[in-house]
Amino acid sequence: MLTFAAGPSKVYDTLPQYLAEAYSQGILSANHRSASFMNLYQETERLMREKLHVPEDYKLLFTSSATENWEIISQSIVHRASFHLYSGSFGKKWIEFAKYILPGTGGLKMAADEVIDVAGLDIAEEFDLIAITQNETSNATQVGMEYLEQIREKYPEKLIAVDTTSSMGGIHLNFELGDIWYASVQKCFGLPAGLGLLILGPRAIAQTQQKGERGRYNSLNFMLENAATFQTHYTPNVLGIYLLNRVLHDIPEIQHTDKSLRERMLKLETCIAQTSSLRLLVANEKSRSTTVLGVSGPEELISRVKKEAEKAGMQLGSGYGPLKPTSFRIANFPAITDAEMDKLIGFLANY
Ligand SMILES: *Cc1c(COP(=O)(O)O)cnc(C)c1O
Repeated sequence: MLTFAAGPSKVYDTLPQYLAEAYSQGILSANHRSASFMNLYQETERLMREKLHVPEDYKLLFTSSATENWEIISQSIVHRASFHLYSGSFGKKWIEFAKYILPGTGGLKMAADEVIDVAGLDIAEEFDLIAITQNETSNATQVGMEYLEQIREKYPEKLIAVDTTSSMGGIHLNFELGDIWYASVQKCFGLPAGLGLLILGPRAIAQTQQKGERGRYNSLNFMLENAATFQTHYTPNVLGIYLLNRVLHDIPEIQHTDKSLRERMLKLETCIAQTSSLRLLVANEKSRSTTVLGVSGPEELISRVKKEAEKAGMQLGSGYGPLKPTSFRIANFPAITDAEMDKLIGFLANY
């Protein structure tokens, strides 16, 4: 069954080979204080710079998931409180985790068709970090780099943390526009779940050191001290890091992936627009994601399309939370080949 679910999502077709090679190369038993692990970490960070254009002075850290990163940010970086801009379920979960740790946390919930009105934003002095769900997987929306740029300009003294769990590896991110970026590998990296990525800029590192929080297993200062010599604070998911490394070797530089995913998304959107009763979940193209497409329709039709897709060997992603009965989602992730996407488009064109 070919899955178009937005996470866990289709893994790269090269995985069986890489898994076998991980075993034969002895990586599965590699000690995380050994030179072979330290080289793997260093090389993976170098590939993130080369392929995704992560700046030289930004540090790559490994965690267990994006969810863990939510806690780490509030626990180890934020001084007083964070302010969240969000429209969907993942953004809502993030603010809830943040509130639990720092009760002064604030936020602004937006509609899916709304873009951030930066001129109209009024974020008080007490908030030292702005949290943005850049690609909201639940409702298939995306915040364009131009909005991050405007926020950076308006609030130069605040840190910016960006959830790119389902866009990092799929779109060209300008890392300089934020201080904290994170993702999980089971979305655009086409890998099995169980590894989170956390990328920190110099200002985020400085604020972490200034806060001085330590003592928990995932206290960021502790992680950074280990990362300075390409080690980790606990025995990490070495296999996950190895697979990430192999995939990063294979993929083109991010601007090429960004372009081809945009073109493919346009084809998919055009196909949906031409059907008689399916509609794009997000009408505003300025807030619509380029890596996850939401499709809405009458409940009966949505359930029929999903069933018939399964019969044709394709699994569509269900709508998320309250959108479940009246929508489905399609991951437009790099591990899905053009031929596979064409097959889906051919199938959807019948409705
Ligand atoms: C999937 C997802 C998460 C959660 O990722 P985990 O790896 O399951 O913790 C968080 N935010 C967004 C936007 C996501 O798509």
